[in-house]
Amino acid sequence: MQLNNYYSSQQWQKIQDFAAHKPSPFLVVDLDRVEFKYQELQQSFPMAHIFYAVKANPSCEVLRRLDQLGSYFDVASVYELDRVIGCGISPERISFGNTIKKAADVKYAYDQGVHLFVTDAQADLEQIAQFAPKSRVFVRVLVESGTTSDWPLSRKFGCDTQMAIDLMVKAKQLGLQPYGVSFHVGSQQNDVTVWRTALKIVKEVFDTLEQQHGIQLELINAGGGFPAQYLAEIDTIQDYAQRIKNYINENFQRKITLFLEPGRSLVGDAGVIVSEIVLISNKSEQDDKRWIYTDVGVFNGLIETLGEMIKYPIYTPKMQNNAPKSNVVLAGPTCDSTDIMYEKVPYQLPQDLKMGDRLYWLSTGAYTTSYASVEFNGYPPLRTFYLE
Ligand SMILES: *Cc1c(COP(=O)(O)O)cnc(C)c1O
Repeated sequence: MQLNNYYSSQQWQKIQDFAAHKPSPFLVVDLDRVEFKYQELQQSFPMAHIFYAVKANPSCEVLRRLDQLGSYFDVASVYELDRVIGCGISPERISFGNTIKKAADVKYAYDQGVHLFVTDAQADLEQIAQFAPKSRVFVRVLVESGTTSDWPLSRKFGCDTQMAIDLMVKAKQLGLQPYGVSFHVGSQQNDVTVWRTALKIVKEVFDTLEQQHGIQLELINAGGGFPAQYLAEIDTIQDYAQRIKNYINENFQRKITLFLEPGRSLVGDAGVIVSEIVLISNKSEQDDKRWIYTDVGVFNGLIETLGEMIKYPIYTPKMQNNAPKSNVVLAGPTCDSTDIMYEKVPYQLPQDLKMGDRLYWLSTGAYTTSYASVEFNGYPPLRTFYLE
């Protein structure tokens, strides 16, 4: 773990200066870094509309910064919708991107001015037609995110190719505007070729609708899935973009509209959770594996360590000067045995760590605050600070 693979010394200093005397645990998010990631993505995909997936970090600070940059927003519930509108963002910039929604939610969103909805089921489509008449709808297709995504989205969302076609035909019959096709390749997707597989499915839906039903779709919504920088090396966003643009050009000769729905890749690297070691212990005199318990855990910020899937880089100033290290288990503070972040993944930390020392969890800006429990064991949700 090399700190300078993650932050320039200037960026780190900014975070350090801020964090120095605040009681842990808390998350610090550097908004300039969010801006940088947004610009980088937009420059890599100049033709795309970027719909930030609000669930990754729904704070007004992040939403407003992205709004200033021209971002659009993907919401999954009426609560997220209220949040985005409440932060001063126009409903015209919002897409309702959850296939699972009540009729009342569709009506509420429509009344607020949202006219863009995803669907993957006939019953949902009928509700949209009834409560959000004439809206634009796009259909989500199933894509196997396989074993190459660190946080897969499974079969919960999307439908097969034939059903996607049928739903778009039905949308037209119901007076809606059949707009296009979406997919999500799985979050933290390490294999860019999954987009190629997905775009082949999209093409089949486009072609069949055009040739057999006279419906010309316009939108390709290529979802999220772009990576944040955790422990493992990742390809650059420019690499991803170049290849995905090639896949689009291979399949689509006419003009299309491209949406992206990044969450993790925009905010992940911008956050650092500052934590403190509460206890260091061994399970027996013979066992040399230290257990390090910190004041953050699965329930107050680090839920994506479940199954040890997301592997956050962990930094302590004691790592400098090649200090001797040894194996550790890392666990949170609550009375629940699932509150263990890493037991199988081999993390090593300096041997001279003491109780009270700080541990910094890097790249924790995404899916941390929004996932923290309300008061399990009395622990409050993760406090968060935003650096302008
Ligand atoms: C969660 C989600 C996203 C964001 O995914 P990331 O992998 O964080 O980029 C985008 N679109 C939809 C529909 C989602 O549910």
